[in-house]
Amino acid sequence: MTASPDVAHDAPKAQETPLPSATLGGDSKRSIEQITLLLFITVPFIALVAAIPLAWGWGVSWLDLALMVVMYYIGCHGITIGFHRYFTHGSFKAKRPLRIALAIAGSLAVEGPLVRWVADHRKHHKFSDAEGDPHSPWRYGETVPALMKGLWWAHIAWMFDEEQTPQQKYAPDLVKDDVIRNISRQFVVWTVVSLLLPAAIGGLVTWSWQGAVTAFFWGSLVRVALLHHVTWSINSICHAVGKRPFKSRDRSGNVWWLAVLSCGESWHNLHHADPTCARHGVMKGQLDSSARIIRWFEKLGWAYDVRWPNANRIDSRRKEAPAEAA
Ligand SMILES: [Zn+2]
Ligand SMILES: [Zn+2]
Repeated sequence: MTASPDVAHDAPKAQETPLPSATLGGDSKRSIEQITLLLFITVPFIALVAAIPLAWGWGVSWLDLALMVVMYYIGCHGITIGFHRYFTHGSFKAKRPLRIALAIAGSLAVEGPLVRWVADHRKHHKFSDAEGDPHSPWRYGETVPALMKGLWWAHIAWMFDEEQTPQQKYAPDLVKDDVIRNISRQFVVWTVVSLLLPAAIGGLVTWSWQGAVTAFFWGSLVRVALLHHVTWSINSICHAVGKRPFKSRDRSGNVWWLAVLSCGESWHNLHHADPTCARHGVMKGQLDSSARIIRWFEKLGWAYDVRWPNANRIDSRRKEAPAEAA
């Protein structure tokens, strides 16, 4: 079984010449990225925890909730359709404006620069749950304490690892695209846009500072925290639990209760069994909003050559045992 076709399929051979402009550059820039990352992980998380008591008191309006939901799903689909299914795996082709829009939408999720995200994820597939996987929960072994430690690693801690995936090796196709490379390098700019936009809308609509503050709290901080934890749960929870009806050489599982919040990404066992497939929820009743939207893009003529699943392909990836009941 191979997970490598998705890595290589539309990527030209890795270039030997380094393209330093694709990375964040020297050590100081790297540590700025680490600090930014630390802030954007911890601050929204504290906001999320604080949100629960606050929700009962002052300051949540329908506008705040709408901003939270809309911004959540823009960023989430930017990651799932854009960063993941399109840029990482090439599960469809996109016209130029859609390609750029997906790069920007995914950047609004504040999950790190696009090129880094893709390089890490391609490496994850290449080594899934084995030595070299940047975020396997099985890294420390299979005992319960080792798995607890491993889940923490897979969820968050891996991002602070010094060793970064070489981007020229894993994402040469993105590195050589000037516009995409620049969007990736402007990660901090997209972060600021993503955080200030809800506050600006909230302030203008209510014409008050309080409106701006509550919109920032819900539409920016709480939204980013929730999206972070849902996305990372794919790395941690979906590699530890869930049904495994399909053949994959790792521990990926299908986790139904994350399907709506993860925009269809928690059908993760199928994804590892067939990484380039544009639909992850291939079985009856498996919600996959990302696949639905890709279908709309296809109908509009913005996406083409979509790798939709077909019955033969799905059956060939099923385990022999009739273990699974959807
Ligand atoms: Zn995975
Ligand atoms: Zn993937």
